[in-house]
Amino acid sequence: MSTHDHPFGKPICIWNFTDQKKVLIDSEGLGNIFNHPEIKDRKVAIISLIGAFRSGKSFFLDYCLRFLYAHFPSINNPNKEQSDSFQKNPNWMGDEDEPLRGFSWSSATNRDTTGIVIWSDVFLHTMDKTGDKIAIIVMDTQGLYDKETTLHNNSRIFSLGTLICSIQVLNIANRIQEDHLQYLQFATEYARFAGVDSLEEKKCPFQKLLFLIRDWNNPEDHSYGIDGGNQYLEEIFKINQDEKSELAKVRQSISNSFEEIKCCVLPHPGRSVASSKEFDGRWAQMEADFKNELQNIVEHLLLPDNLTLKKINSNESSGSEICKYIESYFQLFES
Ligand code: GDP
Repeated sequence: MSTHDHPFGKPICIWNFTDQKKVLIDSEGLGNIFNHPEIKDRKVAIISLIGAFRSGKSFFLDYCLRFLYAHFPSINNPNKEQSDSFQKNPNWMGDEDEPLRGFSWSSATNRDTTGIVIWSDVFLHTMDKTGDKIAIIVMDTQGLYDKETTLHNNSRIFSLGTLICSIQVLNIANRIQEDHLQYLQFATEYARFAGVDSLEEKKCPFQKLLFLIRDWNNPEDHSYGIDGGNQYLEEIFKINQDEKSELAKVRQSISNSFEEIKCCVLPHPGRSVASSKEFDGRWAQMEADFKNELQNIVEHLLLPDNLTLKKINSNESSGSEICKYIESYFQLFES
């Protein structure tokens, strides 16, 4: 094991396309995860992060993994101690000098890859309130808004990612721009169209969407975190009340596509994180307000009561059902 490898998992690329526009699918890798004996009968929460290359996605996902490993057993780490009811570990961010491991800084992650990548290890939890046994899967969707990828391919990646996950985190630098919203609308319409047989037209086909804004420059207008982010989002979604305008239509279409939409604005992480070639992910080098907000938003997303389970046609589905569903979407998205 190299010093950069994670002891329990690695990124598995399940869907990808080449320069020749050929789609590459890893059905075996997909099946190994969703049809695993521990997963196939469980309900599943699938957290996905989507956004451009080099926008801090892997960094954020690796802190999500750190939270999950600090709290839950997983298929590759089954012996982790569990108390009868969930208890938040206030020290889940670990040692201040601990380098990050996971999606980034791993030899298995090829930065030129465009596609959908799943963490090979899956977290297991029994919900305190319902007793439901659930599985938690983490997914990275790479390449969105990348200038080298065509609009068609970007839409396919975004749409597939949105179809597969139950919590979609859209990673954006600085602020939400009109083209982000148009793009999001285009991709969700594309996904609705592709899934016409199995998505009920009138219901919201997708579940949770979180806009994650990095390097937020306007804390005087809207404070850092989820409250400020939600106020900002309200402002963005409210400005055009004229039902006939194109801008209003875009907003309406997005609102109708997701059951819940939220926003979080994060401060700039500081120069070491943003530009040092030596930076290895340790939180000792982050600005204090960034570290606090990072901790808050990861908890907001991943505390068990906040996890959204994957539904297909309004029903919470099992790992094996979701696997079949993903395979059928892979076929639809082959061209
Ligand atoms: P990915 O390609 O989207 O997965 O990006 P990475 O997670 O590999 O991060 C790319 C670079 O951005 C790294 O040098 C990170 O340290 C840095 N980074 C991480 N988070 C932030 C952030 O919130 N703001 C800025 N400006 N840089 C960040």
